[in-house]
Amino acid sequence: MGRWGELLFEDLAPTGDSDLDQASIISEDAGVELWMYDITDDNERPDPPAKGLEATRAHLNDGVLHRLFIDYSSKPLKDDMGQSKELRLVFLAALAMRVGATIEPAFMELLHGNVGNIPVAPKYSLPLFDTGFRGPMKDQFEAALKHYKNDGTPYDFYAPRCKGKDCAKSKDELNNGEKLMKCGKCGEVYYCSKECQKSDYLGGTGKAHKRVCMTEEEKEEKEKKRWGNGPIFMNV
Ligand SMILES: [Zn+2]
Ligand SMILES: [Zn+2]
Repeated sequence: MGRWGELLFEDLAPTGDSDLDQASIISEDAGVELWMYDITDDNERPDPPAKGLEATRAHLNDGVLHRLFIDYSSKPLKDDMGQSKELRLVFLAALAMRVGATIEPAFMELLHGNVGNIPVAPKYSLPLFDTGFRGPMKDQFEAALKHYKNDGTPYDFYAPRCKGKDCAKSKDELNNGEKLMKCGKCGEVYYCSKECQKSDYLGGTGKAHKRVCMTEEEKEEKEKKRWGNGPIFMNV
């Protein structure tokens, strides 16, 4: 099955699965639930069991994360689901970052080196070819590599971040005098400074915000043109 969302672990469709499947394979290998790590409710108790934030972090720091990094990077994957070991390492790192586990410097370097080797699909692609990053997912992971504190602080993959070229700072990472501000026109992206806004508005290759930035009215107008007056309902 293919990935549906554009961000890490964004499985939107009820049957969409791949990212969360990766999370459950890795959880099994780790012997602890890594995605729903804080669900200890009897009714929803995952298998392997969830232990809560601190115990999960301690479990990973107790040699488990080290072993998984070595295993995934050196052996062929047992259950690769058509995905590369580079991508498996991305999921492992992301799960570790969510609970604030310590990623050794050598593994951080490995991740930095790997990111460029993973294919990128800008939008939805056929499940068969869906073996790499989505564009937004790659940006999200690169920002994490840059800003992960690696001191026990869990990393929030969904915190608003500056969209300026190579910036990606969240509210907690701003320098004195900087403020995370929403784009005044579309209200969908954030910038920490005028420079960042300018760098993104004019954009690099094919990514300029200028091309996608629209007011609410303009968005509605565009939808109308696409669909006519309202959605089409089919009789079933
Ligand atoms: Zn910025
Ligand atoms: Zn905008």
